[in-house]
Amino acid sequence: MIIVYRISQFLDINSFHLSSYLMDLSYILTHLGENREDYFNAVAPPIIQSSNFTYKTFAEFRRVLKDEAHNPLYTRGCNPTVAILRKKMAELEGAEDSLIFSSGSAACAAAIIANVNAGDHIVCVQKPYSWTYKLLTQFLPRFGVEYTFVDGVDVENFRKAIQPNTKVLYLESPNSISFELQDIEACVKLAKEYNLVSICDNSYSSPLYQNPIKMGVDIVVHSGTKYINGHSDVVAGVLCGSNEMVAKIFAFEFMGLGANISPNDAWLILRGLRTLALRLQRSQESTLKVVEYLEKHPKVESVIYPWSKSHPQYELAQKQMKGAGGLFSAVFKAKDLATMEKFCEAMADVFLMAVSWGGYESLQVPTALFYTLDTLGGNAPTLPFTMVRYYIGLEDPDMIIAAFDKALLLI
Ligand SMILES: *Cc1c(COP(=O)(O)O)cnc(C)c1O
Repeated sequence: MIIVYRISQFLDINSFHLSSYLMDLSYILTHLGENREDYFNAVAPPIIQSSNFTYKTFAEFRRVLKDEAHNPLYTRGCNPTVAILRKKMAELEGAEDSLIFSSGSAACAAAIIANVNAGDHIVCVQKPYSWTYKLLTQFLPRFGVEYTFVDGVDVENFRKAIQPNTKVLYLESPNSISFELQDIEACVKLAKEYNLVSICDNSYSSPLYQNPIKMGVDIVVHSGTKYINGHSDVVAGVLCGSNEMVAKIFAFEFMGLGANISPNDAWLILRGLRTLALRLQRSQESTLKVVEYLEKHPKVESVIYPWSKSHPQYELAQKQMKGAGGLFSAVFKAKDLATMEKFCEAMADVFLMAVSWGGYESLQVPTALFYTLDTLGGNAPTLPFTMVRYYIGLEDPDMIIAAFDKALLLI
């Protein structure tokens, strides 16, 4: 698999003298933004673990004060280690600029909050990430911002939900539990028609398998915790957009709420990024094998995976995505909760029972878990108890299939 990226803007790569150059993915992950002669020609970038930066003259200090977003003044705004990561993330998404947050949720919240005022309305795809849902339903209403959730499979549903005070169209394609897609190009067309700011949570695909900004979306957000870092040891968020949009978000939501990443965590993500393409490829290849196996198994009701021909939006996935990674759900023919519990526990050595995904380790989140939680307050979960969300990490897929072979006897 070779993915070719072209420089979409003029980059300040002082040390490489590449004015117009065919930039491939490996170049971005391995070299972009890394001016090694600035730090003793070290191959790996330094962790600039400093809260603030000093200047000897008024002229220098004034120059830095003028653009706090791109010059090291104070690490809440700009830090040289984090700046390397910002360059790479912007280029990977085909965006002019990016910001790195201390969590994906902070990035999602900043993107939304920056584009609404009291009295405004947001149209959002249904079943977004849980904390995006809570932001819209419990936090923003306190400040007079309304919302409507829409089944995003048909773009016309978005149109019907738009009101005169709608300002934001929020997408998550696909989502990370039932994997419904939105036709991103059609959504962008609609957003432009009604002058809405379009935002897309692109965590599922990572910048390697889908680029909403290249399809016209205004802001892309990611949980950097997932594929981008990829080692289950950092929580982080990424936001990509135009220079103008990033400057606007930097000026308040980023600096004011102060959800910046630490230089140390940014460095870990830079290290994780080196192998992003390899990890994704491995995860997707293994997932295709496991999905094919499960789809043929008599104890399996269905598999939901955008890269499987059985997915109802397979054509759309092929059109707007370049791949689908390792996250999917499967529904089993189990009769009761106890059977599901036994089955999932039997798999727990191979699929760790844990939230999150995108790391090296395979994971499972059984929906049956939520059926016995008191915190639901009597609200019945909307997903069947026979469903499990799986993430396939870097393990041998044959080992995973062998484990299924054995545990499925329990159903
Ligand atoms: C995990 C996740 C988030 C939130 O990211 P954090 O880094 O956990 O704050 C947002 N969107 C999606 C789709 C996610 O999977």
